[in-house]
Amino acid sequence: MRLYNTLSRQEEPFVPSMDDTVRMYTCGLTVYNRGHIGNFRTFVCLDVLRRTLRHICHWRVHQVMNFTDVDDRTILGAQKVGQDLRTYTTQYVEAFREDAAALGLEPVEDTPRATDEANLEAMANLVHALERNGHTYRSDGSIYFRIASFPAYGKLARLDHEGIKPGARVDSDNYAKDDARDFVLWKATKPGEPTWDYGLGPGRPGWHLECSAMALRLLGHPPIDLHAGGIDLIFPHHENEIAQSEGATGTPFSRFWVHVEHLIIDNEKMSKSLGNVYNVKDVVDQGFRPSALRYLLLSSHYRKQLRFSWDTLQQADESLRRLVDALARLDTVTGEQAHPAITEALARGRVEFDEVLQADLNTSAGLAVLFDLVRVLNSAIDDGAMGEPDARAARELFGHFDRVLGVLSLRQQEDARPPVDPAEIDHLIEERQAARRRRDFAAGDRIRDELASRGIILEDGPGGTRWKRK
Ligand code: AMP
Ligand code: ZN
Repeated sequence: MRLYNTLSRQEEPFVPSMDDTVRMYTCGLTVYNRGHIGNFRTFVCLDVLRRTLRHICHWRVHQVMNFTDVDDRTILGAQKVGQDLRTYTTQYVEAFREDAAALGLEPVEDTPRATDEANLEAMANLVHALERNGHTYRSDGSIYFRIASFPAYGKLARLDHEGIKPGARVDSDNYAKDDARDFVLWKATKPGEPTWDYGLGPGRPGWHLECSAMALRLLGHPPIDLHAGGIDLIFPHHENEIAQSEGATGTPFSRFWVHVEHLIIDNEKMSKSLGNVYNVKDVVDQGFRPSALRYLLLSSHYRKQLRFSWDTLQQADESLRRLVDALARLDTVTGEQAHPAITEALARGRVEFDEVLQADLNTSAGLAVLFDLVRVLNSAIDDGAMGEPDARAARELFGHFDRVLGVLSLRQQEDARPPVDPAEIDHLIEERQAARRRRDFAAGDRIRDELASRGIILEDGPGGTRWKRK
């Protein structure tokens, strides 16, 4: 496996450092809102990375993906609606789990929340270690990391060369700092905010501290193998995570840093603060299936920006349909003979697919391998040059591709599930019949049209009304 490492700005060979287990940390969602499809571009790409490590490299994976459930935005959101922080953030944790399942993300081993007791304790311990090592100072009840105490600061973002760019998330708090670049580890409590102590004084953790502490607590001895997130996290978030973790432990924090480029819409990063976001529900409400979205999000290389539009989503849907149709066509093959040309094409396809995925996760080249094979298989079926053993081998190979891509089986599962709950359909059929008995045919037609727009067709017959999928 070769992976581009942001730390070295190079592709490097990747193997886990301990046993056969890749220990990886993925920065998760800040739960002040339902995650948008830009967030999910990062999560889907990292899911494909996880699946590649498991199903092509045959390693075990211990992945931690956190929920940031305490920071300025979550606190503000909870205050606005008058809920306690935990209740407020829980609804978005649940929404994330729903969307993640709809997009076929493999469940990861650990999904800690920052405000879990054990994590807060780990954060406090990290601050104590930093204090002992002389990396902190206190001011107005808050504790800061002194960047001047850590000469390696800037090694990830290459600040010496590029200068400090004011990233979207440079701390914009108004606490007193000795140096503008210093960042807060523990924020003194403000009136009305949730507060903890753990021997640090009343306050709450800073965002960067959360990830360092959870990674070290759950993944064991540093360096961990891999730390990942969207590209906007390189600075300051990941730079600060390095300073905290290495300042506390004296050991490198992560061997590899992997960053996913942004999902773009109308030439801008999709982001909540710009207000140009769609979430998975919006996509479904527009009549698209989550599988089409997953296909789109993984279809281009993770280090290239990806433009979102409804047209590109439509094209993704059509491409996915071509693949699924080709698989269905294999079921029509009957001949008993295997054909060496097909055996050979399949073997070559498998090698190529595994190679391109291991070359820094080249998913677009991986999909090209699938489409090349589909052409070969379709023309063999047209020419009567395929037998049942070939079809079986092709299905098995596509099963392997899909363990990595996770998109064909997702589409098949969606197909097996009606788009509307059958109980709701029955209820609407009854309502429609009642409307027709009142001779309110307009109301009856509205119900039929509504179901049709949701993919359900009603058929009236002598035995009553039956439904089927569009
Ligand atoms: P947040 O909830 O803001 O902490 O973001 C969660 C994850 O989504 C982080 O890894 C971000 O880098 C990533 N992310 C945010 N916006 C985008 C985007 N437009 N495209 C890709 N990834 C994004
Ligand atoms: Zn993080």
